[in-house]
Amino acid sequence: MRRGIHSYFLSQTIKQRFRLWIGTIIIALEFCIIVPFYFTEKHDRLNEAESQLKQIIALQSLYIERWSEEKLDTIKRFAKSDPAKLLQISELYKDIADYSRVHSEFDGIFFVDKEGYYRSEADSNAAIFVGDRSYFTEALQKKEHISDVLFSNLSGKQMITFSAPVLGDEGDFQGVVVGSVSLDMLDKLMEQLSFGKTGEVFVVDKTGKVITSSRSLSRPQADVMMTTKIIQRAYENIDSNDSYIGFHGDKVYGQYQWSTGENWIVVGEIAKKEIFQKLNRLIVTIIIISLIALLLSFIATVSITSRIERPIRYLLRGTKIIQSGNYDYQIDVDKIKLAPVELKQLCSTFNMMSSKLKTNIALLEHSALVDQLTQIHNRRFMMLEGSEQLQTCIVAGQPCSLMMLDIDHFKRINDTYGHLVGDRVLHHVAFLFKEEADLDTIVARYGGEEFIILALHKNAEETASLANKLRKRLMEEPYKDERVKVPLTVSIGVAEYSASPEYGTTVLEDMVSRADHALYRAKSGGRNRVELD
Ligand code: GH3
Ligand code: MG
Ligand code: MG
Repeated sequence: MRRGIHSYFLSQTIKQRFRLWIGTIIIALEFCIIVPFYFTEKHDRLNEAESQLKQIIALQSLYIERWSEEKLDTIKRFAKSDPAKLLQISELYKDIADYSRVHSEFDGIFFVDKEGYYRSEADSNAAIFVGDRSYFTEALQKKEHISDVLFSNLSGKQMITFSAPVLGDEGDFQGVVVGSVSLDMLDKLMEQLSFGKTGEVFVVDKTGKVITSSRSLSRPQADVMMTTKIIQRAYENIDSNDSYIGFHGDKVYGQYQWSTGENWIVVGEIAKKEIFQKLNRLIVTIIIISLIALLLSFIATVSITSRIERPIRYLLRGTKIIQSGNYDYQIDVDKIKLAPVELKQLCSTFNMMSSKLKTNIALLEHSALVDQLTQIHNRRFMMLEGSEQLQTCIVAGQPCSLMMLDIDHFKRINDTYGHLVGDRVLHHVAFLFKEEADLDTIVARYGGEEFIILALHKNAEETASLANKLRKRLMEEPYKDERVKVPLTVSIGVAEYSASPEYGTTVLEDMVSRADHALYRAKSGGRNRVELD
């Protein structure tokens, strides 16, 4: 498996490697930035939301407490007023009516006598017994009281009551003044206490019954109970930051606070998604930006790598072309204008090398086929080119002959005039032979002072006459320079192509051997002559 991955990476091109690495680096970088950022930011936002919730709850419970204290104070004032003490009930109601004209918080303020009966003003005979109500039983014990949520006997509406006992001068129980506030009224007050988009404040009584909330509770259903985790926390006095399923069924973060007197619990809740909404949006934005960055860097990588890859591709192609024998391949530098400087240098060095290679190879090819001293073709050329031309002649049914020429007593020339003159003589002889040769004649130096001439389209006789022409010309034109004149003769052996070769492995080799034999005969016959095979 590891080996598989290893060989996979090794087989990647420059472009693929660049893409792979840049992609990996960007993704790793994104990961290193986004993940810690997300978690620290989440932690901070949560802490911020918690402390904000706590502050809001504290403020709001204070607000609600003040409000209820105010209400209780009003009721206490009436309970302690002279008309109440002196049981001048109609006076008391007059004061209450005066008060209600200016203030509208109470649905009603009424007096309950010490027997627990409430008599309406309009009909004082119609007494309603309210002695079983908590405000009455509390007042009997001379206590002021704020009730839980009650159903009004009169209106049938949900309400809470504020009550204070009326005590005579000796502190004797005379009755109770009760003010009722409908929950609608409290709801209106609470509406101002919402925060954020989903932030909501609930006032819950100690049994868990929701008295009111800052967002409308859709009254008038009877008892709405708060059964969520926050109530458990309030009962057990646990301080926790964990989210839970809130009153409306969404995941929320919440805080609670008991009101003084432990009558009510003020609960604040805010939806989890509201806290993290901004953060999530930010993270999505960061991810989108990084995807764009990834895309851009891919485009950049592709363009950079193509600038690197293109000259390398040309170089690779160049080396393959040179390998196939085309030595003068040149990279078009106009096509790699945008490549990095080093690669441009590499390509122009390649171009220089290939043109040098071409000259050297041409030189090598020339020196492999041309004799350096005489500047005519050498034996190798004759064996290659001569064989080919001979083959063409044979296929065309044309005759073809070959002559071997050997300068007579050449050793003597060397000995008499020196090797330098000997060399010049060789060059002179080659020049004369070459001059006599037409397009159908291939002249080559066979080695030493021996020459070989292939006469295409000529039979032995025609070739022998050409040989004699050469022999005579050499006699007529000896080598001359400022100081010496070297008379020259040559012995020549001629052989024509034969369909049944006797010697060698090729027809040309057979002709060479037979011409050589003829030459031997010319030598032994007295030199300066032409002998036919
Ligand atoms: P023959 O008439 O029997 O051919 O006698 P010859 O002296 O020409 O033949 P031989 O084979 O005895 O000698 C050939 C000489 O040619 C020997 C050698 O030193 C000389 N020779 C061969 N190649 C060169 C060369 O390139 N330059 C010079 N100056 N001499 C050469
Ligand atoms: Mg010789
Ligand atoms: Mg010789």
